[in-house]
Amino acid sequence: MRLILLGPPGAGKGTQALRLVANYEIVQLSTGDMLRAAVAAGTEVGLRAKSIMEAGQLVPDEVVVAIIADRIGQADAKNGFVLDGFPRTVPQAEALDRLLTERGLELDAVIELKVDEGILVKRIENRVAEMTARGEKLRSDDNPDVLKGRLAAYRAQTAPLADYYARKGMLKTVDGMAPVDRVTAAIGAILSPSKALKPAKVKAKAAKPAAKVKAKAARKPKSKAKSKAKVKSSARKAAPAKAKSAQGRKSGRKAVTKAGTAKTKAGQRKTRTKRRLTKAR
Ligand code: AMP
Repeated sequence: MRLILLGPPGAGKGTQALRLVANYEIVQLSTGDMLRAAVAAGTEVGLRAKSIMEAGQLVPDEVVVAIIADRIGQADAKNGFVLDGFPRTVPQAEALDRLLTERGLELDAVIELKVDEGILVKRIENRVAEMTARGEKLRSDDNPDVLKGRLAAYRAQTAPLADYYARKGMLKTVDGMAPVDRVTAAIGAILSPSKALKPAKVKAKAAKPAAKVKAKAARKPKSKAKSKAKVKSSARKAAPAKAKSAQGRKSGRKAVTKAGTAKTKAGQRKTRTKRRLTKAR
């Protein structure tokens, strides 16, 4: 599985990337994390990137493309990866296309987390306030002023990527403002639509017979056994396990078993014969 997560800073790409890593056994490739590691290690790339990152601007394309070219060739990325924070410009996306083609690889999806930028700034302000209150270390670019610059860079240089991938028919969009679990579920539905649809279908079918039982029982109190037996057979067709247990709980078991139905029918036949004999006499 090879994916790209698109979305402005603070949209939740990192959180969702970690969940994808756990669910699909792939690796997260975050250029932001790699650059921060390079800055911390004081490498040549780190020294070049430091002041650019602190200003909330984008590191030159060739720097991040070289990092990604090296990283996707490593053994742990063979099973797949989720790119978080890369590509961030159209030239980076084109370079990625070339890298993948050269290696005979393809992307499975590009997922955009759509968010309201105004709320995003509020989220970051709250996060900064909470982290400061807890005495935690902040990222040097994690402050509302730099965030505004990063959002501007996103709008100008990264947002056009949505069109780039939409034209290729690869773009999927999810509501990034929804609760984290809902965003994860929406991404899951995009990546494995069959898995996401199945449980919903089964539930809908299983719900019907139970409602029917109640409605019929309310309308025809005398022929309870018959209506329950009918529902039993349609429930068996729709959702065997669920219908069985619901039925077991709610109904008189005698009436819904095959033997019970036979007994009831035999009883009805006997009564009819008796009535006929009495009339004849
Ligand atoms: P992030 O953690 O993804 O928000 O990235 C933090 C910072 O790293 C960004 O504000 C940029 O300065 C730099 N950066 C990360 N990824 C890229 C990229 N693909 N292209 C250019 N700069 C990047």
